[in-house]
Amino acid sequence: PSLEKVAIIGSGNWGSAIAKIVGTNTARHTDLFEPTVRQWVFEEQIDGKNLTEIINEKHENIKYLKGVALPHNVIAVPDVIKACEGATLVVFVVPHQFIHGICEKMKGHLAPNARAISLIKGLEITADGTRLFSEEISRILDIPCAALSGANIANEVAMEKFCESTIGCPNMEDGMTFKKLFDTPYFRINVIQDHVGVQLCGALKNVVAVGAGFSDGLGHGSNTKAAIIRLGLMEMRKFGQTFFGDAVQTETFFESCGAADLITTCNGGRNRKVAEAFVLTGKPIEQLEAELLNGQKLQGTLTAQEVNQFLQARNMQHEFPLFNTVYRIVYEGVSPELITVDI
Ligand code: NAD
Ligand code: 13P
Repeated sequence: PSLEKVAIIGSGNWGSAIAKIVGTNTARHTDLFEPTVRQWVFEEQIDGKNLTEIINEKHENIKYLKGVALPHNVIAVPDVIKACEGATLVVFVVPHQFIHGICEKMKGHLAPNARAISLIKGLEITADGTRLFSEEISRILDIPCAALSGANIANEVAMEKFCESTIGCPNMEDGMTFKKLFDTPYFRINVIQDHVGVQLCGALKNVVAVGAGFSDGLGHGSNTKAAIIRLGLMEMRKFGQTFFGDAVQTETFFESCGAADLITTCNGGRNRKVAEAFVLTGKPIEQLEAELLNGQKLQGTLTAQEVNQFLQARNMQHEFPLFNTVYRIVYEGVSPELITVDI
C-alpha cells in the first residue's frame, strides 16, 4: 500500500505542539507515512519577517510555541492549497471561528481517499441546531472525519510531560492509523468510536473553565472550583443526552477528553486565566485576550454565546444554569458573584 501523506492545518499553540508529535511519528513509522509533513501556517510578520520563513529556518514557532524545537521534516506553508494538495491524512487544528473559510479553499485538493481528524474544541451552534466540526469538515470536503481531544494543555505536551488523549473515530481501522500518527510514550492515545461525545466534551468544558476562572478571580478556593467542575460536568452530560441522545456514551466522560480535560482546563487553561483577569481588572474579554494571549484565541466565551443562542431558541437556558450564568456574566454584565448563586 502507498504511504499516507500528512498535512496539518493550523499552527497556533496546540497546532505547533501537535506538529512536534506528528513530525516525530511520521519520521518513526516510515512503513506507514511519508516523513515530510506540510503544515499550513496563517502568515504573519514578526519583526518584518514571515513566520513561515522563521519556522522553516529555525524550526521553531517563535510566536505560538517559543523555545520548543520542531522536527525538521515539518515544513511550514503559507498557502493552504499547497499545504493540503494530495494529502491522505489531514489534521485540523485551528480556532473554531476560522474553519469554514479554510475548508472552502481546500475543496478538490485532497487525495480521493483522504481522511481527516479534528483537534478543534468548539461546536458549530446556531439557533437552528448544533453540528460537530467533524461533521462540518465531512460535509464541506466530502471525506470522513474523526476527532482528537483530551487533557492536553499545549505547553505541557510540548515539554513531553505525560498525558492522555482520546481519539473518537467510528471507523476503527482509521482510528488505529490516527493512533500511529499521534501516540508517543508521553502522549498516550485511547481510541473509541464515540466521536460525538469526544467533541461535545472538548467544546463545553471551555465554558465551564470560564466559570472556574470567575471563581478564582473572586478568591474562592478549591472546594468552590470543584463544585463548578462537578456541576459543569453534569450540564455537559445533560446537553449531550438532550440534544445528541444515544450518540453520546456516558463512558466517554471518563476518558481523557471528559472529566480529565475539564479538570486541567479549569486549572491551567487560557479560558480560566482570562476569566480570572476579567473579574480582577473589569476589562472587556477581547481586550484581555489581546493583552494576555499574544495572538492566541479564547474558545470558551464564544462557545458560551453560541450555546446560549441555541438554548434560548428552545427556551431552555434555565435548564443549564452554569452555562447560562457564564453567558450572562460575560455578555450581559451581571455580577461575577452570581457564579456561586445562580448555578
Ligand atoms: P491559538 O489560539 O494558540 O492560536 C490562534 C491561531 O489562529 C494562530 O495560529 C493564528 O495564526 C491563527 N489565526 C489568527 N487569525 C486567523 C485567521 N483570520 N484565519 C485563520 N487563522 C487565524 O491556537 P491553538 O491553541 O492551536 O488552537 C486550535 C484549537 O485547538 C482550538 O480549538 C483549541 O481549543 C484547541 N486546543 C488548544 C489547546 C491548547 O492548549 N492551546 C489544547 C487542546 C486543544
Ligand atoms: P484553554 O483553551 O482554556 O487553554 O484549554 C486548553 C485545552 O483544551 C487543554 O486540554
